Amino acid sequence: MSGVGEFELIARYFERAGHPLPTQVVLGIGDDCALLQPTPGMQLAISSDMLVSGRHFFADVDPATLGHKALAVNLSDLAACGATPLGFTLALSLPSANPAWLQAFSQGLFALADRHHCPLVGGDTTQGPLNLCITVFGETPPGQALLRSGARAGDDLWVSGTLGDAALALDALLSHTALPPATLATARQRLEQPTPRVALGQALRGIASAAADVSDGLLGDLGHILKRSGVGAELDASTAMHLIAACAHSASASGHFDPQSNLDATVLRHVLSGGDDYELVFTAPAGQRDQVVQAGHATATPVTRIGRITTGAGVRVLAADGTPLQGAWTSFDHFKA
Ligand code: ADP
Ligand code: MG
Repeated sequence: MSGVGEFELIARYFERAGHPLPTQVVLGIGDDCALLQPTPGMQLAISSDMLVSGRHFFADVDPATLGHKALAVNLSDLAACGATPLGFTLALSLPSANPAWLQAFSQGLFALADRHHCPLVGGDTTQGPLNLCITVFGETPPGQALLRSGARAGDDLWVSGTLGDAALALDALLSHTALPPATLATARQRLEQPTPRVALGQALRGIASAAADVSDGLLGDLGHILKRSGVGAELDASTAMHLIAACAHSASASGHFDPQSNLDATVLRHVLSGGDDYELVFTAPAGQRDQVVQAGHATATPVTRIGRITTGAGVRVLAADGTPLQGAWTSFDHFKA
């Protein structure tokens, strides 16, 4: 690498001498392998996510928010499985060793890592196009990981937090939508610094029947659960409308959802099909309603019941009077095209 050498770079920006490690991390950065010792009897949960410049983020994005997001999207996968984080590795390809960039990147990365007691335990560093790949390791009691395959007809359909703001911000940054500055700031925070729902995921062990994180849009990620579980779902559009936060003072706050209105249709499209929110979509038996609400309270995470699991396949989006809505926003694949 230009500027500092590879090993100096690792030592300066990624090794944190004297930083306490959880007992499950026997050996961190510095040897040929890291050594993990999961809590006896626990299963390892492992997930990787790659972020490519120009595809998953703008090349000139604030490096601190990039550090946050690279880890957040991985922790979100652990959250979706109900796993407890243990540590992560970072494979980094960088055009040059820019000290200011590396300093900000590692600061954003470690701020989130520390919040989740999830240390960086190793990785790889090379010169090349800007590209990051993180692998996270977590643990969960055997048989208690939240899977996509467990939803059953009659289960409630739930979502955490709010949806659609990340897509709204992306639209605005790509100049497709004009937003008031304060609204853009709120939405942009959600796009660039998502909150992985790690505590909620763990609290839902033994309560939720299936879960996934919303990285590609609610309809798309719910679709994965439905397919794996062999079921369908009904989704209440008027409830979903209230999930968007940045827009709350506009369409959805009016309390009257009009699917024919352009603004309402735009909000609903962002809620249903927007990606990058990193909330959890999950199902739970109707008899677990109080426990789901309790898990939300215990982890200070809003949870909203937005529909139900049915027999059959696919998602039906329903208006308040129960009639199915037809619109481009009801189809995930349509928006991908
Ligand atoms: P090897 O050649 O044996 O794969 P390296 O020389 O690439 O090891 O790396 C030396 C040490 O630094 C290893 O412990 C490796 O895990 C760690 N490391 C390399 N790059 C990073 C990185 N970007 N973040 C954290 N640790 C890293
Ligand atoms: Mg080696």
